[in-house]
Amino acid sequence: MFRMRIGGIAALAVGFVALVSAQQPPAPVPVDDGALVGADSRRGDWLSYGRTYYEQRFSPLDQISDANAAKLGLAWSFETATDRGLEATPLVIDGVMYTTGSWSVVYAIDARTGKELWKFDPEVHRKYDALACCDVVNRGAAFYKGRVYLGALDGRLIAIDAKTGKSAWQTTTVDQTQAYTITGAPRIAKGKVIIGNGGAEYGVRGYVSAYDAETGKLAWRFYTVPGDPSKPQESQALEAALPTWKGNDWWKYGGGGTVWDSIVYDPEINLLYVGTGNGSVWSRQVRSPGGGDNLYLASILAINPDNGELKWHYQTTPGDTWDYTAVQPMMLADLAIGGRMRKVIMQAPKNGFFYVLDRATGELISADPYVTVTWASHVDMKTGRPVEIPGSDFLTKGAYIRPGPLGGHNWQAMSFSPRTGLVYLPAQDNGRYFEQPTNFQMKPLEWNLGIAPIGRNSEQYDVPYKGRLIAWDPIARKPRWTVEYGGYWNGGTLATAGNLVFQGTAAGDFFAYRASDGQKLWSAWVGTGIMAPPITYEIAGKQYVSVMAGWGGAFARKTRTFGRLMTFALGGTTALPTKPRPRRVTAIASSARPEEIAAGAKLYATYCVRCHGSNTILPDLRTSTAGVYANLEKILLDGVLVERGMPRFDVAENFDKQAVAALRAYLLDERRKLAQGQ
Ligand code: CA
Repeated sequence: MFRMRIGGIAALAVGFVALVSAQQPPAPVPVDDGALVGADSRRGDWLSYGRTYYEQRFSPLDQISDANAAKLGLAWSFETATDRGLEATPLVIDGVMYTTGSWSVVYAIDARTGKELWKFDPEVHRKYDALACCDVVNRGAAFYKGRVYLGALDGRLIAIDAKTGKSAWQTTTVDQTQAYTITGAPRIAKGKVIIGNGGAEYGVRGYVSAYDAETGKLAWRFYTVPGDPSKPQESQALEAALPTWKGNDWWKYGGGGTVWDSIVYDPEINLLYVGTGNGSVWSRQVRSPGGGDNLYLASILAINPDNGELKWHYQTTPGDTWDYTAVQPMMLADLAIGGRMRKVIMQAPKNGFFYVLDRATGELISADPYVTVTWASHVDMKTGRPVEIPGSDFLTKGAYIRPGPLGGHNWQAMSFSPRTGLVYLPAQDNGRYFEQPTNFQMKPLEWNLGIAPIGRNSEQYDVPYKGRLIAWDPIARKPRWTVEYGGYWNGGTLATAGNLVFQGTAAGDFFAYRASDGQKLWSAWVGTGIMAPPITYEIAGKQYVSVMAGWGGAFARKTRTFGRLMTFALGGTTALPTKPRPRRVTAIASSARPEEIAAGAKLYATYCVRCHGSNTILPDLRTSTAGVYANLEKILLDGVLVERGMPRFDVAENFDKQAVAALRAYLLDERRKLAQGQ
């Protein structure tokens, strides 16, 4: 009661000040359901993960434009004091930025100055490092009615008071004896907090849950794959899915289908779209011998947000056997296709096809390859199913498949500009050799993929690991322009009304392109690799662009880079880090035979390219000191640099002294080429 009265007096006082001073900014409008539906009209804010419920990551701000982007400079930077990957989309509400970092830490920051207001550390137990497939990352928070909502790595959902940074409630959303983790951002739909989880590489059963935002009470849960077939299933949708699974053991492997990233709410149609992940285990032959579509793996699900009932589903990869998750970011748009307006949902899942679906019904409108795809020739428009290329299921013989498990596109968010009609898609080329295992035994709390480990004799490791920004026209179903990168595993994108697209790269460059034609207009080097998608916002008439920088994730977990949040504005004058000049090298004599160099190239593509890349900020192995080449056996087989983040490889199949010699031969040959090119 006493507190209430104080609050009342304070409110009266604020009212009085407002009367006497026209300069006073208006009181903040609360972020409630109406505000979230009308998020686009709050031009200066970034209210939710994809900015609005459409998740287009398009901002109407145009102070920074293709006419003046060259004048961008650093306004402020914030050091996160982390050494693991940063993947978050910051939110900006009434001048305060809320973002998340490694180990699910939440930061509230003055978005004009970069000053920390509070920090919330959920103190996730460090054992979760071993249970997170893809680094101890977090992709962001949700904001609703004065609270910040966090999905913590250990499976907790936490409501935090946005003013004080103190926990209002928390609840555990997973069975913590299993290898569940949360890295995705929660979403808000009609007073509920929607949250999924990950863990399919270890062997879990996927689901998505809705909690009451006010109290933290579970409202509903939808399992994406059936459970123990001897018991009743939790929903009619799962009873329908049951016959699409074969054999006796799939449910003991968890089944998979985890909802670890994309969740999108459509307030017009009142549907919640959820992307589901790969099968657990990966190999369908092990998981579901005899085949079957294995519903609802690798699917887009449309769920009633009021009760958790499935309305429609579209399976992008029936019977997934390649880790082809369909959890990749989805966005809603209204597009004129074939002479009529269609309400669509768009997704570029790992499997390499760009999908446009009618979001009211799930009807397939188009599906086209956006990278090189070798597992399917096309998607049949009559059946809506991919047409698999014979042998790509590696049933009788190993097969090299593109895209590989890292996907033609992963969690790095794409953006869409209604002005240009283009989707700005962070894509990538990669592949992997798949082979059935000779025997398979499930191990608790470990990776259980159900495929043979990559051997030195596996074929064709020569696919270049390269990233690419594609401006995809979803109506014409083709790229309008592309930007090729030397490196891989680059950042998500942001589109603005200033005819700009922003994207950071693994090499630590932050770029602005003209949205209409891809012309590079500006770049800044931020000193550490970028994976996260940028955002933009406005305070007191000034537009800012922010991005979290800090490499890692599935591609390069435990790389031990450092993290920072960089914010740019026109005329920003804060000093940027200086890009080091490439080191000059001289060739080191080697008597290796060409076959040995070629074998080393395959090994490099299999084991090393993930972290050492081409063009990443991690050590360039062509410019190492002579001691590194001399001690390669100690580094790779004995693990003498493990403490510094360099893993040992003696655990890999056929990774022996001969393999080390081949790698050395390849690296010295690459060094010779570099020395000659200088
Ligand atoms: Ca996976």
